[in-house]
Amino acid sequence: MRITASQYHTPMEDTIFDRIIAGEMDADIVYEDDAVVAFRDISPQAPIHVLVIPRNRMQSIAEAPEHDAETIGRFMQGVALAARKLEVEENGYRVVLNTGRDALQTVPYVHAHIIAGRKLGWPPG
Ligand code: AMP
Repeated sequence: MRITASQYHTPMEDTIFDRIIAGEMDADIVYEDDAVVAFRDISPQAPIHVLVIPRNRMQSIAEAPEHDAETIGRFMQGVALAARKLEVEENGYRVVLNTGRDALQTVPYVHAHIIAGRKLGWPPG
């Protein structure tokens, strides 16, 4: 019997990103398909700052080994497709997956930040 990703999910409170996925909360959506939704960050850190979230819920990328490769692969493809839609491929962009406390992850629903539109510093703080 195939185990579906939803069977791995631990019970948790609905986050703002669950509400955006459910259409219960407004978001400035820039790209979506059957696997992901991408929307502008409410507090942008660069001229282009978009969050990409999978429709298949997980708390952080640390849970990726417990999910099927299709879910993880479609999430990563969704990041690239959103970046393509934003036309940032030529100049480049940064993808950030803040994971857990030390990385200052504030929303416990996995999200990839696409940050672009200016020269970015390295290393990050
Ligand atoms: P992180 O610190 O990696 O968990 O990032 C969470 C991000 O979500 C932050 O950059 C916030 O500005 C952003 N954020 C929080 N609420 C919303 C919202 N309602 N719509 C869009 N972005 C949001």
